[in-house]
Parts: sequence; C-alpha cells; structure tokens
Amino acid sequence: EFLAKLVAQAAARESAMFTETEGKALLSNFGIDTPRGVALELGAPVPTELREPLVVKAVSATLVHKSDAGGVKVNVTAAQLPEVTEAMRASLAAAGHELEGVLVEEMIPAGHEVIVGAVRTPGLGWTVMVGLGGVLVEVFEDVSFGLAPLTEAQISAMLGELKGLKVLNGARGGLKADIPALIGLIGRLAGPEGLLAQLPDEVLEIDLNPVIVSADRAVAVDARFVVG
Ligand code: ADP
Ligand code: MG
Repeated sequence: EFLAKLVAQAAARESAMFTETEGKALLSNFGIDTPRGVALELGAPVPTELREPLVVKAVSATLVHKSDAGGVKVNVTAAQLPEVTEAMRASLAAAGHELEGVLVEEMIPAGHEVIVGAVRTPGLGWTVMVGLGGVLVEVFEDVSFGLAPLTEAQISAMLGELKGLKVLNGARGGLKADIPALIGLIGRLAGPEGLLAQLPDEVLEIDLNPVIVSADRAVAVDARFVVG
C-alpha cells in the first residue's frame, strides 16, 4: 500500500523517480538504516530535533546528481540553514534547476563509502551490485554482482570478490568497517524477504550511493529509486 502510493505519487508528478525522502522512508520500513532527517519547504523554520552537524540537500524534480549542481552541503549548523539554502538556490538556478525545498539530515560520521545497486533484469529478476565508492569504483571498476534473492553467505562471498575488501577491513591503518552491518543491509534489500522482492513492477532500478560503513553501522545516506 505504501509502495503503491509511492508509485502513484511519482506518476502524478510525471517523475521517473521517488523523492529521496520517499526512498529513505521505504528503506527504513525494511529496517535499513538511514540518517535522521526532515524535508523542509523553502523558508521553513529550522528543525530543533536534529543533531548537528547537519547535511543540507537540494530537493528539485529535475536534479539527479545533486552535488554536481551544488545541491549537497555537509557540516552545516542549524543557524547556517538560511544562508546555505539561499546559496543552493542560486547554484541550482545557474545550472537550470529550481530548488523546491531542502532535505536536512544528520551528518553520519566518516566511514567507508560503499555503493549498493540493483537493476531489474528481464528473465533474471534483480541483479545486485556492490562496490567500494569513490575512486575504487570509478577508476578500477571494482564491483561484484549477484542475483536476488541472496543469502547472507552469498552476500559475504560477493564482498569477498572485491579487491577493495582489504580497505574495508582496515588495511594500512584505515578504519575497520562493520562488515556484518553491511551484509545485514544488503540482506534486508536483496534477501528472500527483502525489499526487492516486494517492489512493484514499475520500479526498475535502485541505487544506494553511498552507504557509509563505519566501525559500528552501515547507513544508506543517498537513495535513488527509478520507476518506469
Ligand atoms: P548526490 O549523489 O546526488 O550528489 P548524495 O546524497 O550522495 O548526493 O551526497 C553526496 C555526498 O555527500 C555523499 O557521497 C556523501 O559523501 C555525503 N553525504 C550525503 N549525505 C550525508 C549524510 N547524511 N552524512 C554524511 N555524509 C553525507
Ligand atoms: Mg549519491
């Protein structure tokens, strides 16, 4: 019902995507950790229940890669929200997008950035992809694939195929990521009872880019659901 509503809302907006807020609510319904946040209309009062530092993200129907157009600002205080919003409005306008509102959320402490994606593949179901974010995925294309539904053992094997697994495990004095939390997150997405199995046919693709995996949690800080 919630899912059908999201699909109907996207259709009503003539949009090929759920909003980030909708997508994160959906993830959260399936037990996937997301940052605490609130979607605000322009000029709305600063939320008091969120803990600083905050992240401010542009809400705009035409904007897909928010940071490319200056649509993401990290490490912001509540007091800075009006000026940050105004700068974001100007920056989006210069790139031809209208700022409709902002999503203000708590900033997740630094960790390893992991990409988790899934694409509906005719005849096969959902193809699931996992990789290390940033330069490792862009330059070295260090990603690993599997077909849903995936067991935790299969997810663990997918991670084992990544050259960058050493990095996740804290190579060269880096942070040791909570791998079980990452496996749990992928399981809630792609496991037998997971979100993918429940999605209506209209949903074609999902992108959690990035999932921040720190020493004790794995949090989806961005969520893109493509509908068609
Ligand atoms: P986009 O991919 O549309 O440019 P994201 O929502 O992925 O925008 O944000 C861009 C980057 O900002 C992320 O890759 C991440 O490094 C950082 N970021 C976004 N949201 C948060 C958050 N809540 N906590 C910490 N870092 C964040
Ligand atoms: Mg992103």
